[in-house]
Amino acid sequence: MVAHDGRGGCGDYASYVDCAEAVRQLYVYLDGELTDDRRLEIAAHLDECGPCADAAGFEAELRAVISSRCKDRVPDSLIARVASAIAAEEACRGSGAAPSSAPA
Ligand SMILES: [Zn+2]
Repeated sequence: MVAHDGRGGCGDYASYVDCAEAVRQLYVYLDGELTDDRRLEIAAHLDECGPCADAAGFEAELRAVISSRCKDRVPDSLIARVASAIAAEEACRGSGAAPSSAPA
């Protein structure tokens, strides 16, 4: 008989990281901003835990799509739109036509 102490959700041999932690660290993990140790812990959890691995896979795929799109040239129309949005915001802030949130 194996003594399970009932801790943890999935992955019964005590990986250091539980699901909540794995999910919390997922974004950092995918950003590659974790320490090697931490990354191994998360990777080990993803290895053992289907749901978390799915979530990570989805997130990774999403990022791959986003970053491959970003490698393409950003369309000029988008740049223009962003620039004009920024300009509009600055004009709004600078013109004294401040909304009620401005302190007197
Ligand atoms: Zn998990």
